[in-house]
Amino acid sequence: MSAPSAVGAAPATSPWGKRLTALVALAALLVAVRFLPIERWLLDFVAWVRSAGARGMVVFAVAYALLGLFLPGAMLTLGAGFAYGVVVGTAVVCVASNLTAVGAFLLGRTLARDAIAARIGANPRFAAIDRAVGRQGLKIVLLVRLSPLFPFTLLNYAFGLTRVTLRDYLVGSLVGMLPGTVMYVYLGSLVTSLTELAAGRPSGGAVQQAFYFGGLVATVAVTLYVTHVARRALADVTGDEAHAEPAPPVPPSLVQPDDEHNRALLAHVHPPGWTNPTPAARYDLVVVGGGTAGLVSAAGASGLGARVALVERHLLGGDCLNVGCVPSKAMIAAARTAATARETSAFGVRVSGLDVDFAAVMERMRRLRAGIAPHDGAERFTRLGVDVFLGEGRFTGRATLEVDGRRLTFTRAVVATGARATAPPIPGLEDVGYLTNETVFWLTELPRRLAVVGAGPIGCELAQAFCRLGSRVTALEMLPQVLGKEDPDAAAIVERRLRADGVAIVLGARIERAERRGRDKVLVYEAGGARREVACDAILVGAGRAPNVEGLGLEAAGVACGRDGVTVNDYLQTTNRRIYAAGDVASRFRFTHMADALARIVLANALFGGWKKASALHVPWCTYTSPEVAHVGLYAEEAKARGHAVDTLTIPMAEVDRAVLDGDEAGFFRVHLERGRDRILGATLVSAHAGETISEVTLAMTRRLGLATLAGVIHPYPTEAEAIRKAADEYNRGRLTPTVKRVLGWLLAARRRL
Ligand SMILES: Cc1cc2nc3c(=O)[nH]c(=O)nc-3n(C[C@H](O)[C@H](O)[C@H](O)COP(=O)(O)OP(=O)(O)OC[C@H]3O[C@@H](n4cnc5c(N)ncnc54)[C@H](O)[C@@H]3O)c2cc1C
Repeated sequence: MSAPSAVGAAPATSPWGKRLTALVALAALLVAVRFLPIERWLLDFVAWVRSAGARGMVVFAVAYALLGLFLPGAMLTLGAGFAYGVVVGTAVVCVASNLTAVGAFLLGRTLARDAIAARIGANPRFAAIDRAVGRQGLKIVLLVRLSPLFPFTLLNYAFGLTRVTLRDYLVGSLVGMLPGTVMYVYLGSLVTSLTELAAGRPSGGAVQQAFYFGGLVATVAVTLYVTHVARRALADVTGDEAHAEPAPPVPPSLVQPDDEHNRALLAHVHPPGWTNPTPAARYDLVVVGGGTAGLVSAAGASGLGARVALVERHLLGGDCLNVGCVPSKAMIAAARTAATARETSAFGVRVSGLDVDFAAVMERMRRLRAGIAPHDGAERFTRLGVDVFLGEGRFTGRATLEVDGRRLTFTRAVVATGARATAPPIPGLEDVGYLTNETVFWLTELPRRLAVVGAGPIGCELAQAFCRLGSRVTALEMLPQVLGKEDPDAAAIVERRLRADGVAIVLGARIERAERRGRDKVLVYEAGGARREVACDAILVGAGRAPNVEGLGLEAAGVACGRDGVTVNDYLQTTNRRIYAAGDVASRFRFTHMADALARIVLANALFGGWKKASALHVPWCTYTSPEVAHVGLYAEEAKARGHAVDTLTIPMAEVDRAVLDGDEAGFFRVHLERGRDRILGATLVSAHAGETISEVTLAMTRRLGLATLAGVIHPYPTEAEAIRKAADEYNRGRLTPTVKRVLGWLLAARRRL
């Protein structure tokens, strides 16, 4: 609400009053120029300054500076040549014309810049030019000034309206106007009388005429050439920005449904109407891919003072925010709540009636996701000083990348393009249609019957979640166990729990084909020697991921890649020493926290010549089923294959009071040690909160702490982390060999006798 005006204050001039005054002044000026003998006065004035020595020079400069505010200065520039010759005339005009330029610039800036700036947002084209001028002001001013065909008088004001700095404007003008000034002054110096000056050429003999016309032709030729070069260079600097269409809006099919939450999400991760900035001359770091690895690289590098460009073709935040960890964990939280509500009677709590509103579950997920999005959003990264480009990035050389028609030149680059879902080659699957993690979170209606292809981490998490939310789920897995890479005992516990929830699991399934029968989708498969089929309303494929390397121009950049992604050495350097890679595109550990950790290694190695190794990391991960399965380091078989002799300790969760009290006793903590040494090689935890609890083991491994040290750590009672302490106690007990026990017994007996 505006404040009331003070009683008795002078009435403010209305904007219409101001405009009318300006119009009248302009009209008067035009009439004066048209009807007054201004040219005659100028000639008289030049004749006077020529005879008035130093005083004339000062008066000339001041007059030039004032007149130049609204008249082209060509006649006076010629006059300076006529009055003072080339050297002195050039000096006088330089001072005067720059005074004019600064005066007009300041007038434009103080009188109109704010009003123009207020409208910049509404006009993307102007905003783009304005940004370009703000960024590369010196270059643009210089190029424009080099071409006398651009009307200087207007330009002086126009630059004042943009965000170019006064310093860039001054330097650009001073240097850029010099060639034109010299040429005009030179032409003026060739005329010998006012009559010639008025005619704009000398009337002397053939030699003088030849000099004059030679100079004129040279002037025109140079002017045309400089204008041509300047215009081309200008187009490079501003043209892209000024003429580029805003990045195409994300087709609605990429984020569905079109509701307030997804619109809020897009406003951050792919703002509609986003205009890419003008690239800097060279970047310290160009990051291709705006998922976790890319965002961590970009934010970290920018925070360290590097000039950074971030290129994302789809949605900032990548898989984790948009189609991975975040939406899946929101769904899982809702599903767990439903499961808990169903199981209350085991706790003596009876709840009557349970109604899962799937649409509300998914709306909650979209709301929470949109709430998290600003952290990964374009606005935040722009504020951090990162140049955010939305568009497909493609290397065009060993140190250049193209995006949206712009060329980015870099000292270092990071490929962080992630991975995508792939479907196994099942005949008929494409025709029948299927969901992947990229589309399953679009659902607003629960599929009554869902077939899940693949029972790896993604398949198991989503199969259990959909089942708990009310779908009839069948999971088909070609391996003999779910969570194929996990400890078989851990996988067996998850399998039992999934079955108890109601998921039908088929192991060793070989899917032969998919077909449509009426409204049903049918998967025909073979398992245990028999051919069977499952009919469903939707098929969810969670059975494979492929690195995003296609169309990246890796060959042009000299970056090698294989089936598993970009080839990197232990320092995450690709076969092009300027280019690094991090995240899913270059690692077999496809987790968000790993993408984060690898990006940090890239920052140290790429920007500061560090020698951090990816192989030095101890990598934990977790599958968020109920119960959760978390792991860090090596599995027993892996450790043996690497030549370690392994001792394994296992503590069932049934021996951990907290798990018993919570009704979560299905699970265990298992730790693998180097035989004869207190060195942890790896550990698996199956428990309600395994993802949280495993960090204690990760810390121990990272800091090279053994179980003996963990045994000395006090753990709150009752918590599931006690499983770790129990394993440590057991390890300590195991260190008591019969001889040591016997010696201790003698000592204690001796003390009793004293
Ligand atoms: C359903 C699901 C659940 C998951 N849950 C978890 C979890 O709970 N915990 C966990 O740790 N991990 C989880 N993950 C894995 C995690 O999402 C990934 O490991 C992580 O997102 C990898 O990050 P990234 O930066 O390497 O790649 P991405 O997040 O995939 O980002 C790569 C980005 O690069 C962009 N891009 C690709 N090519 C180009 C190009 N040419 N030009 C410009 N941009 C390009 C892509 O559009 C994408 O945005 C889950 C994955 C899925 C699918």
